This record gives sequence, structure tokens and C-alpha cells, in this order.
Amino acid sequence: MHDPSPDSALSRTPPPAGPPAAQAPPWHALPPDAVLSQVESGPHGLAEGQARERLARFGPNVIQRQKGEGPLKLLWRQVNSPFIWVLIASAVLAIAMGKVTDGLVVAAVVVLNTLIGFVQEYRAGKAIEALSLMVPESATVLRGGQKQSVPAAQLVPGDVVELASGDKVPADMRLLASRNLQVEEAALTGESVPAQKHVPPVEEAAELGDRTSLVFGGTLVTSGTGSAVVVATGHDTQLGRISTLLSQAADLQTPLTKALAVIGKYITVGILAVSAVLLGVGLWRGYEVSEAVVVAITLAVAAIPEGLPAIVTIALAIGVQRMAARRAVIRKLPAVETLGSTTVICSDKTGTLTRNEMTVQALWTPAGRYSLSGVGYAPTGELRRDGEPLGALPDDVRELLLAGALCNDAALQGRGERWEMTGDPTEGALVVAAEKAGLRVDEARTKHARLDVIPFESEHQFMATLHDDGQGRRRILLKGAPEAVLCRCAPHDGATPEAVLAEVERLARQGMRVLAVAGRDVPASHAGLSEQDAACELRLLGLEGMIDPPREEAIAAVRACHEAGIVVKMITGDHPATAEAIGAQLGLQKEGAPGITGARLATIDDAQLPEVAVGTNVFARVAPEHKLRLVRALQSKRHVVAMTGDGVNDAPALKQANIGVAMGITGTAVSKEAADIVLTDDNFASIAAAVEEGRRVYDNLIKSLAFVLPTNLGLALILMFGVAFFPIHDLEGARVPLMAMLPTQLLWINLVATVSLALPLAFEAKESDVMRRAPRDPDAPVLSRFVLMRTGMVALLMAAGAIGLFLWEYQRELPHTGHAMALAEAQTMAVNTVISFQIFYMLMCRTLTGSLRKVGLFSNRTIFVGVGVLVLLQLAFMYVPFMQRVFGSAPLTLEAIGLSVLLGAVVLPVVGLEKWLLQRSGTEVVKQVHRDKDKKEEPPRPGPRERLPA
Ligand code: ATP
Repeated sequence: MHDPSPDSALSRTPPPAGPPAAQAPPWHALPPDAVLSQVESGPHGLAEGQARERLARFGPNVIQRQKGEGPLKLLWRQVNSPFIWVLIASAVLAIAMGKVTDGLVVAAVVVLNTLIGFVQEYRAGKAIEALSLMVPESATVLRGGQKQSVPAAQLVPGDVVELASGDKVPADMRLLASRNLQVEEAALTGESVPAQKHVPPVEEAAELGDRTSLVFGGTLVTSGTGSAVVVATGHDTQLGRISTLLSQAADLQTPLTKALAVIGKYITVGILAVSAVLLGVGLWRGYEVSEAVVVAITLAVAAIPEGLPAIVTIALAIGVQRMAARRAVIRKLPAVETLGSTTVICSDKTGTLTRNEMTVQALWTPAGRYSLSGVGYAPTGELRRDGEPLGALPDDVRELLLAGALCNDAALQGRGERWEMTGDPTEGALVVAAEKAGLRVDEARTKHARLDVIPFESEHQFMATLHDDGQGRRRILLKGAPEAVLCRCAPHDGATPEAVLAEVERLARQGMRVLAVAGRDVPASHAGLSEQDAACELRLLGLEGMIDPPREEAIAAVRACHEAGIVVKMITGDHPATAEAIGAQLGLQKEGAPGITGARLATIDDAQLPEVAVGTNVFARVAPEHKLRLVRALQSKRHVVAMTGDGVNDAPALKQANIGVAMGITGTAVSKEAADIVLTDDNFASIAAAVEEGRRVYDNLIKSLAFVLPTNLGLALILMFGVAFFPIHDLEGARVPLMAMLPTQLLWINLVATVSLALPLAFEAKESDVMRRAPRDPDAPVLSRFVLMRTGMVALLMAAGAIGLFLWEYQRELPHTGHAMALAEAQTMAVNTVISFQIFYMLMCRTLTGSLRKVGLFSNRTIFVGVGVLVLLQLAFMYVPFMQRVFGSAPLTLEAIGLSVLLGAVVLPVVGLEKWLLQRSGTEVVKQVHRDKDKKEEPPRPGPRERLPA
């Protein structure tokens, strides 16, 4: 390539890291030719070499967004919680009162918790940030005169890019051509009404919003098509300049974390009140002031579940990562939770529930019926009539297949065994059908040059083209949904509209998508194609019926959803009979059960719609605006709705749904921006997998909660009981209260045990019944009756065990070793009892209702890391002299340790019994939604399916 001349715009454009391109030419005021020459490009774009060279010079087309929260801010957020403030105040107070050891241990609790929370949240944030890279953005570019799809990051100034409805504009560009191009520029200007874009230059002084000849990176094409040349990439774009305003902060807040934050505040206030009462009781019973203060502080520290926020974040982050591994990329964190309570999934048909591998199997022309054998895109198979192979290709079939292949943008590449199809699978099937019948589509396309096209859009359901056969004959061809084509055809002698419609219905009943093909000769002077040209007087050439079988995994996933109490509804643009047949194959509804069409939906008012929406599972010939109404109607019945979508017009429905699901492969950028999750394989089964993961995350949170709360309360009870009832001895002139555990010992347990045992629960595998119970009730309180009752029961058991063993051991040893030694041994035994109790209880928490045997002892290895570390620390606690000095512990015999472990194991049968009782009584641990009431409401029968317009 030639080097940029000194006055070309390229030489003036500063490198990416430089200051903004303040002196860049006023691209919007220049005509397209001038822009092309300034950026040293042409209408056919850059050559590969040029593009490579420019990429090296200008750098990739990416905007380094401002990082989310910096580490310092994140650290501050850890510290800035009511839990931690109380702990810090306690540490300072204890040290001020001369209880230095106690104060330092409290400080250690604070530091350790903050660090664990910080490290885990930092990692979680990074993991979630990385997800955005999993849904790559690409652009259609002319390179070396060839159309190709390249990653948007590789665009360079001078590239010529094609834009279509649904695309995200990949860089700042000057328009070269446009057809009804509308762009939504909210990302840049905040204006959500799409702006019209045109090629003619505008005044140099025009504001950003009025520069209608430019399209800006990061904005969205809402309709039309166009082509444009890139003038600025990366940080030189308008969006790049304001990128400091964009924060990529992974928002780690969800409804659950918010609910827990509120609960946390109440718990803190409650605990402070109880601490104050305990202080009073201590003083009243004759404790020294400093002693009483330390006891009150210890209570606060022991009872506050300071590790909880970190556990919640980690459980959510693990969920996000596992969903990504199962091909559902989360874009908004709250979706992780909402997925678990999804009650209805509304899914597209083509490609999501079906394989999107279309094969034409039936042909119909006014002269008769034909069939084509073979499946897939390899054109091997043959044409038959009445089961008999045909020798020569009849003229009517030739005309039908040729028209279907010409009014078509798909292409077949390769020969022999391996064939590849590029383009829309529906169109690919038509090309394959023509090749199977012996037509050479490439040659035919050269011979019948295409002069103009009206592209296919779901709204009008047809595509039309204008061709010239090189001998002055011109012809309009049209293909599309039979209703859309038939109403454009003239009455003709071949077959009555009724006969055609009966044929359409017959094929559709076999689950086939049916396309009608028509044509009309026009005078040689006819140069362009308008809507009117394609509106009437066409001649019907015939019908092509194609199968698109359901995906095996979708059938299984639908079954799994049904077991999980989730209703699956199919929403499709296809013919009602096709939709019903596929719906029956997928098990969405019984064979013969009626679906409902978009046209009929339009006649049902908002008051009636909810009942119809609940009572119907197959929706056919649906337009995007119906989707929005359906979501609202289902939500009005308290359903939690997941809705899939791929087109521009699906965006409102995706936003309205509780979970908007976009397609990673075939979806438009607009639909992905609107969605909460993006499926990287476009497969329905991935939604079901995400729901399963969502339920698992919630289960694990409840498990962590059911573990943390009772152990904290248990510690508090041990302390409170001692202060209230234990004797106070007069020893060598000082009043020494008897305590089952020293404050430092309680703090030790809090320091080492709670987090090391609770965190691994967030990694727990799924419950065996996770997809066999009804969806979670999103309105049920987090602190359910189950959690509260479990907390009370386990806390009492733990406190009673520790206190009982302490008293027994103290009384037994007192006569032999004297007060000091007996006390140290008895207290160490109490600590051991609590720790072993916690270990056993944690094992019981690994499943909410089932038995540990079902889960498999080794299914979660992180548990053993936690337990291993804890056992080592506990050995140090007993046998290392320094620890004995700090914590007042004593070395114990194996027998004494065994006794503590045995007592701790009492929790196994007790909680086992509770689980058994819960199961027997059918009590729900995670509150589920019950829709029996809804089921009894017999939905009004949708009217007989309206006949297709003749
Ligand atoms: P689903 O909603 O199940 O994913 P879909 O989105 O593929 O289906 P549309 O693309 O809106 O549905 O297609 C609706 C109808 O338009 C089809 O039933 C078919 O008759 C017709 N059709 C589909 N593709 C084309 C095409 N490329 N050219 C002409 N007509 C088409």
C-alpha cells in the first residue's frame, strides 16, 4: 500500500494513546468520495495487507473502559459494613480497657474476614467482567473486494462495513449508501428514539445528534441497511472519548444480597441490644467492669455473622461461572437468582427447539405432488412422484425449484462428501432441493442476473427479486409464507386457493415449514423493484415443504422443565399447523391440542389475555409485538417469565421478561444488549441448564445460612448462659467468674471455624431433586421458617453439649488438679466439642433434606480442605505453648478429645431425624410456588383457528 501522504487524514489522526483527534476532518460535511480519498480507501474497501498494516499502526478497535471498582474501593466496601464497624469498635474498646489479648484477637477476626471477603469479591468481579468477552462482536467488512465477517476489534480506518438491521455499529463511520437506515444513539446521546441516517453531507457546524451522514460506534441499527467507511476506531471514536463515563463495574448487588444487607442491619442492632443487656447482667452479678465489657464485646463478635456477605457473593459468582460453562452467559447478576424461580419459559422454535437444519421433502405444483429424498445440506437424493423416481425433470418442477433458488441469498460450497451452506437455513434448503433435482444453481444465478431485491423480514414474511435472463426478458420472483404469497397472486386456472390452502395445511400437519413461490414477467424496461411491483398479479409456481426436526436435547430439556414445574411455551413465526405438529413432537402439548395465532391474539383484549396466555402452549405466526403482550399477561398471573428472542423487535419483550434470553450465534446485537443472559449455542437445553444452576446457587445460599446462623447463635448462648447462671469464685482476693469458654476462645472459634466451614458450602453440588420440585417462590422471605427453626434447634443443642461437657469435666478434675488446671482442661474440651459439632453439622448442611449418603461424601472436595485446615489449627490450639498462653488452652489426652468428638457427633442423628420428619410431612425447605389454583382455572378455549386468507 502507499504511505499516507502528508495531507491525508490518516497521517493526522493521532495514535490511539494520543490526545483526542480534535483536528480530525469534519467527516459529516464532506461528500462520500472525499471521505474515501482522505482515508485512502475505495468503495471496495481495503486490501488484506493494508488492513493488517493499519491495525498495527492504529491498534485494535477497542475502548479500554474505566476499570470497575479499584482494589482500594473494594477493600473499603468490605470494611464499611455495620458488622465490621461493631467489631472494630469492640477491638479498640477491649484494648483501651487493658484486655490487649482479647482486643488483638478481635482485630484478627476483622482482618481475616476483610481479607477473605476482599480476595473472593475481587476474583468474582474479575470472573464476571471476563464474561463480556464470551459474546464476541463482529462486523461484515469488504476486504480485498470480498465480503467477510471479522471481529469488530480488528476494524481499521478505511474499512468499508455493511450494516443491517440489528447490528451494533462497530466504529465511527461515514455513510456511503443507505436504505431506510435508522440508528438508536442512546449510548451516545441518551436519545432513545432512533435517528434517520442519510448519505448527503450536513453542515459543518451540526451538533452530534444532527450529523445524519455519520454513524457512531456503540449505537444500534434498528432498521434498514447501509454501508459506510470507518473514519475513527477505539479511543478516537465519540464513544471512546467519553469512555471515562462508562464503568464496567460488575454490579455485585442482587435482590438477595440487598435483602441480606437489610437483615444484617437488624441482626446487628439486635445483637448490640443483647450485648448491652448482658453487660448489665454481668455488672449486676458482680463482674468487674473490664470483665463485663469484654464479655459483652465477645458476644457481639461471636453472634455477628460477619462472613455472610462474602459467602453470598461467592455463591453467585460460582453460579455465573458454571452457567457460562453450560453455555449461558449471564449479563446481569440478578438473573442468577431469578433463573431459580422461573415458572414459564417462552422459546422461539427455529434453531432453539429445532435443529435449524431444513430439508425440503415435499413439492407441490398445480400439476401434482412430488417428494425429495435425503436429508441435510448434501444434495444427494432424488425426486419422486407417487413413490416412483422421475426420469426427466418436469417443467413445472423445474420452474418452481429454479425460482426458489434464484429468489435466495444462500450459497452451497464444496462438492462430493462435504457440503457447506452459508446463509439462512430456510433458503439453503431451497438451493439444496434445486441441486438434488439436477439444476446448477451457480450457473442459473449467473444467467439470470439479479437487478434488485426486497429482503425477507419477519414482519412481511416474503422476499422478492427482479431478474434479467440476458435476452431482454425480465421477471419478478417472490417467495414466502403461503398467506403472504397467495394474497399477491392473480386468480389462476391451475388450482383454487382453497385447494392450495388445503395442501399447505396437509404439509404443515406433518411438521413442515411451507414456502410458496410465485413469479411474474415484466417489460424489459422494468429496472427496479418496489413493494407495489410485488403486490399483485403474480402466478403461483408451487409450494416447497421442508422439515426441521426438534433437537433431541430440547425434547429432554422440555421434559426436565415439566418435572421441575416449569411450563414451556413455543412462540414461532411459522404456520399454526407446523407449530402444533412440532409442539406435539416436543411434548409441549398433546397431539391435536390447538395453538393460537398472532392474528387471534390481536383480537383478545388485555383483560382476557392472561387466561389465554396461561392456557396455551403453542403460539404461531406471532409478531414481536405480541411477545411483549404475552410476557405482560403471564406476569400479571404472577409468573416469572424467561423469554427468548433474536431480532431487533424482540428487544422490548426481552427487557420486559424477568429473564431475557438472547441467541449468541444468530441473535442481533440489539437483542443481546437487551438480554439478561446470552446462549452461546442458541440451544433451548442451555436455558434449562441455567435454571438448574440458578436453583443450585439458591440452595447453597440457604445451606450456608443454615450453617452460619445456628453456630453463631450457639456461641452466643454458651456465653450468655455462663454470665447469667455460673458461680463467681473468690480466688486470692479477686472475683473470678466461672466460664465454659474464655472470650478469647470464643473468638478463636469464630476466627477459624465459621468461615473455613461455611465457605465450602457455596461449592456444593446440586441436590438430586433440584429439578423435581416446583420453582422457588420469589416472594418467600430469605429467613424462612425452616432456617429460623433450624437455627434455634441446633444452637440449643450445641450450647447444651458444650456447657454440659464443661461442667462434667470441671467437676471431675477439680479434686485432682485444682481449679486452674481443671478449668483449662474443661474449657479446651468445650472448644473441641463446639468445633467437632460444627464439622459434623456442616456435613449435614451439605444437603437440605436428603441424606449425606445420596450426596456422596467426596462430591465436594473443598469441604476437606476446610476441615483439614481446621483440624491442624485446632491441634496447634491445644499443643503449641504460645497458643496455650494466648488462649488459656490445655493439652488434652486422646480420650478427652474422643469424648468431645463423640458429643459433637450427636448433631448427626438429631438433624437426621429432623430431615426425616420434614420429608415425611412434606415441608418445603425452599418455599415453592403453587399454581394449583391456576391449573383449575380452565382457560377459555381459543376459537377455531382462523382459516388462512384466500
Ligand atoms: P421462529 O419464531 O420459530 O424462530 P422464525 O423466526 O424463523 O421462526 P420467521 O423467520 O418469522 O420465523 O418466518 C416466518 C415465515 O416466513 C416462515 O414460516 C416462512 O414461511 C417464511 N420465511 C422464513 N424465511 C424466509 C425467507 N428467507 N424467505 C421467504 N420467506 C421466509
